Amino acid sequence: MSCPPCPKCSSEYVYQDQNQLICPECAYEWDPSAVEDDDTPQVKDANGTLLVDGDKVTVVKDLKIKGSSQVIKIGTKALVRRVLDKKDHELDCKVDGVGEMMVTAKFVKKA
Ligand SMILES: [Zn+2]
Repeated sequence: MSCPPCPKCSSEYVYQDQNQLICPECAYEWDPSAVEDDDTPQVKDANGTLLVDGDKVTVVKDLKIKGSSQVIKIGTKALVRRVLDKKDHELDCKVDGVGEMMVTAKFVKKA
């Protein structure tokens, strides 16, 4: 298995030393398993706080529910069941009084 290129200088001469990958050209060392964590979606709430699975959030503006006249009122609490890698509606939430629905992260803030 070949090593990935150096994330700092794109060198292809990266080699592995135990759990670390080392770039001989710029001397950068990193843990490839930590780099993989960067693939998890970086979804931020209205305040720019990173949201993760299991976070409790509060709705910061009235949200119309698609295909219904129901509105999720500002201040409604929700539980983030899953953060998805999408452009909007990236939170799979369980919303108090409403149930499961997809919510856009910038319309909530971490409780
Ligand atoms: Zn390098």
